Amino acid sequence: MHRIEIKKGDLVLADQDNATCAYIVEAGKIAIDDRASSTPTYSVGPGEMFGEYGIIGDAVHYSTAKALEDSILMVVTQEEIEEKSEQADPMVHLFLNFFMDRCHSLTVRSLGSDDQVQHFTSRRKHWQNNIQTIQEQLLEQFKLKDELERALANEEFVLHFQPIISLRGGFTAGFEALIRWQHPDRGLLSPFFFIDTAENTGMINAIGQWVFKESCRFSRIFNEKAANSRSPEIFISVNISARQFEEDDMVENFKASLEETGADPAKIQLEITESVLMTDTDRAQKMLYELKSMGFQIVLDDFGTGYSSLSYLHKFPIDKLKIDRSFTHSMLDDQDSQEIVRAIAGLSHNMDIEVVAEGIETMEQLSMYRDLDCHYGQGFLIAKPLPVDEVYGILGTRMKLNG
Ligand code: C2E
Ligand code: CA
Ligand code: CA
Repeated sequence: MHRIEIKKGDLVLADQDNATCAYIVEAGKIAIDDRASSTPTYSVGPGEMFGEYGIIGDAVHYSTAKALEDSILMVVTQEEIEEKSEQADPMVHLFLNFFMDRCHSLTVRSLGSDDQVQHFTSRRKHWQNNIQTIQEQLLEQFKLKDELERALANEEFVLHFQPIISLRGGFTAGFEALIRWQHPDRGLLSPFFFIDTAENTGMINAIGQWVFKESCRFSRIFNEKAANSRSPEIFISVNISARQFEEDDMVENFKASLEETGADPAKIQLEITESVLMTDTDRAQKMLYELKSMGFQIVLDDFGTGYSSLSYLHKFPIDKLKIDRSFTHSMLDDQDSQEIVRAIAGLSHNMDIEVVAEGIETMEQLSMYRDLDCHYGQGFLIAKPLPVDEVYGILGTRMKLNG
């Protein structure tokens, strides 16, 4: 989207001009003479749109638009709308296409035998083919949503726990709780198959609550076992989706789970992503300070992949940063990645934030993080996410860090 300024009396578009964009009036007034409309001439002002044929079809304009005053216009291209529509919720995408189709058929009818109609129609064909795919996706999503509801009711979800070790002493410091779906027909499913749908349909709220409560329960069990074997206390790190933060009762639900399970919030970490901080900054700040005052530790997950603006960090009570595993993967071969990792490590030390390195698969990667004085490490080299009965054997163990 870009802006243009036009002077009073200037022509913005002429009948039969190629149509590849639409215009939104930001300031000023535009007179429209529209061949496809029953009103011969009308004017549009701030917030209104014209030239929308530029978006519904790859054709020509059927109107003339002229500035009645000096005006500022926002120009929206066909590609931009298509891209945004594809990224939207499938339901919104479907509705948008439905109305575009309606609009298209009305236009074709009103233009009758226009030479351009043929071209216009062939372009809509492409959209209609897409619609079938969207409809299928939408149906698939509805089906999966029902299945997720059933899975939750039937207790088909399980948590696996991936150890997080201290890169200083090698001992197991905590575990990240990662959800799996024990599907009755398809076996154990990774979140890859269902987390996006859970997010898109809002099911993530109920699932997230279950994950949180279950994590509280295991935090207590693991810590009791650790205490019995005189091992250091351990934390459980729980992934909290950005959508959960939109719910007004999230904090209350957390409180209720803590009470029911008797878990100690000081031994629970909440993993959030940068999108939580960027969506509604004031609200996020308030909620995070509240969670912090309850005793939780806050971890910023997938760090470096999102907005990656370090300047906002001081506004939030962040205890740990998790360097995204894509950096771990590339830092030994790619100078840019290595520089980013060094910068994150340096910055965290200055801000008194601890660093967790994710996705460690080789001893070289582990050594590099140790050289950078990062605090914690997690990855397949240390251990894969484990079912709960394998966790007990790991409590109190120490990994040899020098090859
Ligand atoms: P994440 O939060 O980044 O979790 C870490 C993912 O990296 C896990 O995938 C883990 O198995 C994988 N991983 C760990 N070490 C290595 C390694 O050395 N190499 C590689 N290549 N991968 C490694 P998983 O369990 O499949 O989870 C995928 C994502 O699903 C998670 O990414 C998280 O975003 C989401 N997720 C999982 N459980 C939950 C949950 O309970 N709630 C929410 N909201 N999201 C969850
Ligand atoms: Ca995580
Ligand atoms: Ca991560």
